[in-house]
Amino acid sequence: MITHNIIGFQQSATSGKYIYATDPAMLATLPEAFATATAEETDRAVSKAHQAFNIYRKIPGTRKAEFLHEIAKGIEDLGQVLIERIMQETAYPEARVIVERNRTCAQLRMFAAEAISGGWKTVTIDPALPDRTPAPRPEIRKMMIPLGPVVVFGASNFPLAYSTAGGDVASALAVGCPVIVKAHDSHIGTNALVAEVILEAARKTGMPDGVFSSLNGDGMHTGQQLVLHPLTAAVGFTGSKQGGRALFDLGQQRENPIPVFAEMGSVNPVFIFPGKVRSDSKGLAGQLVASMTMTVGQFCTNPGLLIALKDHHTEAFLDELAIALKVIPEASMLNHGIYKSFHRGVAAVREVNGVIMLHDHQSSEGLRTAPVLATVPADVFLAHPQLHHEVFGPFSIIVLCENMDEMLSVAGALEGQLTATVQVSDDELTETQPLIDILIYKAGRIIMNGVPTGVEVCAAMTHGGPYPASTDSRFTAVGHHAVQRWLRPVSFQNFPANLISGMTND
Ligand code: NAP
Repeated sequence: MITHNIIGFQQSATSGKYIYATDPAMLATLPEAFATATAEETDRAVSKAHQAFNIYRKIPGTRKAEFLHEIAKGIEDLGQVLIERIMQETAYPEARVIVERNRTCAQLRMFAAEAISGGWKTVTIDPALPDRTPAPRPEIRKMMIPLGPVVVFGASNFPLAYSTAGGDVASALAVGCPVIVKAHDSHIGTNALVAEVILEAARKTGMPDGVFSSLNGDGMHTGQQLVLHPLTAAVGFTGSKQGGRALFDLGQQRENPIPVFAEMGSVNPVFIFPGKVRSDSKGLAGQLVASMTMTVGQFCTNPGLLIALKDHHTEAFLDELAIALKVIPEASMLNHGIYKSFHRGVAAVREVNGVIMLHDHQSSEGLRTAPVLATVPADVFLAHPQLHHEVFGPFSIIVLCENMDEMLSVAGALEGQLTATVQVSDDELTETQPLIDILIYKAGRIIMNGVPTGVEVCAAMTHGGPYPASTDSRFTAVGHHAVQRWLRPVSFQNFPANLISGMTND
């Protein structure tokens, strides 16, 4: 069976080249063939999206909401077919997949509500001042308008929530931007099922041909062509720092540069105050190990860096961590690339003089991996920037500081982060201020006495942060305000209100 690219309302497979999905747990190639996109098909998808934009942006928010609701319903109606395909392509347990499916549908419905409310337009009106001297002022009204066709690259570790009908796609569709998805090779079959749902939802709710397309990549070429296409208006990317940076640079090198909103990796530091270690060493160890090993550590918010003071209470805490890690079973990682880069990353850490492995990985079958925990003195950490980078998977390194000043130096030396966490006892709260003062300029979200994994989808959420956590720290990829990435402001001077509402039809 051959699965086609979806180009608006057409199915297309002209390349004669195919890619196949892999079952990472069984290390087996799955039978269905997915036709890769040609340069002509890629061009057709963006050209159709451009044509659709002129119709779609004027469709009332209530109808865009019907489209998004229909997508959510279609995903739910796929039931076990979708759940089992995701489990097969990711090796995730069923409960994890169901949580992500429910989150994805909730996001679609949340953005449907945003489309209806029209709040994303954020209209600002400075009324006319006809009697002002020496010159009268005309009415000036500012509002946001959609940018145009958006290209979306999903991440391998979120086959639904950051993929074909994920937050980037739903937020762009909600505000009037057609979307072209570059399917992720790691869940190409899941992409095909969801893309088919979006196609049917578009047809059923009367959306224009070209409002959505999904292309299977011919290596990296397809994605690069999409970013460089003159009619592409913006890009949403979730994935590795290497990939995000490459696509961001491409976006800036175009004759007409475009925004590339890339959400990338992060080590999500957790600063542990001594009182917290003294008061609840075992509870804290259990909480952190659960966060670090959930879904084989394949979360962008995984706590990859713990920072504590070097004393005998911390020694006991390290023992608790090692005990908690011993009972975590090995599990399969998502794909060969992630497995190899995890082990390459751990090997590079192991080589640094001064690093001690507290819980190391033993060789095992296939892509199965156990968690790894290391410690390093703060002065060694500060002298080795390679230890500051993400090792994607179940890995954490604990930086042991001589005193609080050294802890602040470690905070100051970090790159931009999606999150930073402070674990502290009640009577140490006032002592956290100097650290918080540093962290607010390092991270998009600061957590007090919690763990970084678990990103709430809500209006107050910031999922982003200074580079390299994202390529634009002013925006979020999660929550209501994710729509702001696909908009730009226009001021209308001296326009009658009915002419403006006629332009947006809303
Ligand atoms: P990835 O390897 O960067 O791939 C993401 C997508 O970009 C894929 O479709 C890939 O194409 C494409 N791509 C990557 N480099 C490219 C290039 N140079 N040119 C054209 N296309 C390119 O990332 P991943 O393996 O999916 O995800 C793992 C990483 O994502 C981790 O580092 C994790 O921390 C991060 N992540 C971040 C967030 C967040 O919100 N910040 C969320 C989840 C994951 P192919 O399919 O052809 O490889």
